[in-house]
Amino acid sequence: MIRANENYNKLKASYLFADIAKKVEQVQLENPEKQIIKLGIGDVTKALAPAIIKGFHDGVDEMADDATFRGYGPSPGYEFLRRKIAENDFQKRGADIKADEIFVSDGAKCDAGNFQELFATDIKIAIPDPVYPVYLDTNVMAGRTGEFENGRYKGIVYMDCLKENSFLPELPDEDVDLIYLCFPNNPTGSTATKEELKKWVDYAKENKALILFDAAYESFIRDETLPRTIYEIEGAKEVAVEFRSFSKTAGFTGTRCGFIVVPKECMIFNSKNEKISLHSMWDRRHSTKFNGVSYPVQKAAEAVYSQEGQAQIKAQIDYYLNNADIIRKSIKSLGFDYVGGEHSPYIWIDGKTRDSWEFFDLLLNKASVVCTPGAGFGMCGKPYIRISAFNSLENVTMAMERIKDALRGDQA
Ligand code: PLP
Repeated sequence: MIRANENYNKLKASYLFADIAKKVEQVQLENPEKQIIKLGIGDVTKALAPAIIKGFHDGVDEMADDATFRGYGPSPGYEFLRRKIAENDFQKRGADIKADEIFVSDGAKCDAGNFQELFATDIKIAIPDPVYPVYLDTNVMAGRTGEFENGRYKGIVYMDCLKENSFLPELPDEDVDLIYLCFPNNPTGSTATKEELKKWVDYAKENKALILFDAAYESFIRDETLPRTIYEIEGAKEVAVEFRSFSKTAGFTGTRCGFIVVPKECMIFNSKNEKISLHSMWDRRHSTKFNGVSYPVQKAAEAVYSQEGQAQIKAQIDYYLNNADIIRKSIKSLGFDYVGGEHSPYIWIDGKTRDSWEFFDLLLNKASVVCTPGAGFGMCGKPYIRISAFNSLENVTMAMERIKDALRGDQA
């Protein structure tokens, strides 16, 4: 008899963004004249930059000629792209990452979701709250948690990220084996200094733990003193894996390309306490289950690192950061507390005493603006909403005017 993986029963029934879409659809149906502005889901709105499109086209043209046609590519990705990544994203920042420590993939969501396959079922995991839901849900599916009770999965060590700790996770009181970190953070938009990350690297070394560091939003960092990669921290190569994505950096949400860095020094342990190469394990997993990103997409990703590509993507990110600035100023003028938006496209807003779904409904009904209720990211998100800067300047400006009208004098 074919039997189901019953760990799936532990998952919360529906996906946050599906619930939001349903509510938005209902309001639109009842008010067809309303022009609803979406600042909810974190999806880019600007077209791929010209240099990237050229790389993409060149790749397609090569596929159209027998002489330059490519079939299956190398499983970890083409050398031309991995070399550019290693040089530009790491070596230029003083991080000694080599091309053969990079595995190109179809995005950070799959990588962040798949990587947990390499670990034993009974390890202890530390996860921030609020959090990008993929880290948690994929561990639930794999059977590393107990049931979902009172808003939390049993067996997980939650690291509360609150105003009191500047939305930065604190070292857990109990020993943990696997730690998920994300900076700049989704959903809070908070960033971590080198000192902050060093604390985690030291902890991982001392405890034979591993850090999974999600740097999907690193290109939003504008303060040169903040680390863009965890490998700017000494010793991180022994204890950290990094997820990267071209989605928010270069507008690849629909094009799909990302990569993982698995340094060769990074070791995990078997039940006899012997060292196992994480790089070899991921190489085995990746080459068995993944057949590579399409050649034109890897050519498009390569073009991100050209001089024109770099200038063009910087201009796009500056555009979103300007939107974020408008959002921050508007929210501040209304007397709400917030974090993020400085080195991140997300602004995390304290709804004062309001529950996040109540705040979401208010903005949808009174301002026709869609945000994301913080409760969807974890228990600590309940009093918050997340507003995303991914939209046109015109829409963001209009949305903020409408929110100001809806909330002016709001003392809730
Ligand atoms: N990691 C974080 C923290 C994200 O917020 C997202 C997307 O929103 C991803 C990863 C997924 O990126 P990708 O589009 O590369 O799958």
